[in-house]
Formats: sequence, structure tokens, C-alpha cells
Amino acid sequence: MRRAGKVVAEMHEVTRAAAKPGVTTRQIDAVAREVLERRGATSNFLGYHGFPAVICTSPNDMIVHGIPGDYRLKEGDILSIDCGAIVEGYHGDAAFTMAVGEVSPLARRLIDVTERSLWAGIAELRKGNRLHEVGRAVQKVVEQAGFSVVREYVGHAIGTAMHEQPQVPNYWPGSPGPTLKSGMVFAVEPMVNVGGPETRLLDDGWSVVTADGSLSAHFEHTIAVTDDGPEVLTLS
Ligand code: MG
Ligand code: MG
Repeated sequence: MRRAGKVVAEMHEVTRAAAKPGVTTRQIDAVAREVLERRGATSNFLGYHGFPAVICTSPNDMIVHGIPGDYRLKEGDILSIDCGAIVEGYHGDAAFTMAVGEVSPLARRLIDVTERSLWAGIAELRKGNRLHEVGRAVQKVVEQAGFSVVREYVGHAIGTAMHEQPQVPNYWPGSPGPTLKSGMVFAVEPMVNVGGPETRLLDDGWSVVTADGSLSAHFEHTIAVTDDGPEVLTLS
């Protein structure tokens, strides 16, 4: 899983570098494919329920699952890029949101708060802790900033499949959840909206946008629970 995580980290590096004004999201998908091929990894996104690309690209008010295509990035956009890889049967999954050129102070703050909420959640992935402390920590950071946490889409355990049980909500679901043990691996992935938490699915059957049209950001890492604390596998 460490090796899959490193491939995902490299996909982050090259897609971040490629995402400039004037570039289409299809071109960004192409640079991510090149990493998978060069590293001998395969895609867990391509063909997943028919998904046609190796990354998801979700600009502005799109929360997650955007399909790379003809959308051409422009100065002032924010773009969420979600990447995954399989190495020897083990999966990695991680996402980030970036500014395309100069963005508004609100967009900048949304990105910063969402990333900070991810790290607050990761800090709870300690042996003996309860899983839903992750969501509680994420939600606290987000709501203190005046933003909202998406409810309909959540994080997940990950291993020999991308999406394993249990789910990892980004909010307190009303119960503490399972007790964490060393060796468990989770994808924690807060999706944060400037406005309300409600979502809407577009006609393509994939793209999820904010119901109120507000901006949304998404950060994700794959993290192992170890005796020494959380180990983030999708860092370079
Ligand atoms: Mg992901
Ligand atoms: Mg995920």
C-alpha cells in the first residue's frame, strides 16, 4: 500500500504542475495516465462502474467525481483532482484542491480550511481511538470557519479494494464507530462547501455539484493506523 501511495503522490505532483489556465481537464488526465504506465501501476478509477478516466477533475462548484474532458481551466478557477492507483493488488486514493492562477480570498480560505480539516481528521487515526472521532475533528474545523461538510459522500477503508467498509464520515454521525487497530488503512476525504452541504448529481451520472452553486473543495489521503500513530501513505 506504501508503493501504491507513492504512485498516487507522483500523480498529484504532475497533475498539479499541468493544471494551468488554458489546459483542458482531459490533458491533465493524460499526464496522470503516463505516471501509471511508467510506474507499472494500474488505475482503480478507470472502468469503475464505467468511469472513463484515471482521475476525477472537479472545478469550482463541482464537489467530486468530475469527468476529465473539454473543460478548459481559466485564471481564478479552483480545481479538485482525485487520483488513484493499484500496485500488486493494493490501492491508493488521494485528492487535493488547487488554485488555478490567482483566486479570490474566499476560494483561498476554502482550500486552506479543507486541507486543515483533513489533517485534523488524520490526527485522530490512532490505535485505540474510535473511528468517528475523525469526522468530529473534520467537522469542527470546517464549521468554525463558517463552511459546511458534505454528508452524502464520505471516506472509506481501503486495501485490496478501493472502497471497503467501514465508511469514514466527515461529521459526527451520532455514534463513536469501531475501535481503531494497527494495520487498518483508511481514505479520509473531507468535501467542504462554502454554502450549504446539499449536493446535486448532474445528468452525466457522475459529476456532483453543490446544490446552491457555492464553491467546494476536497482533500484526501490514504492513511495507515500504526503503533507509532497515523502514517500517511499518499505523500511523496
Ligand atoms: Mg479519491
Ligand atoms: Mg476515496
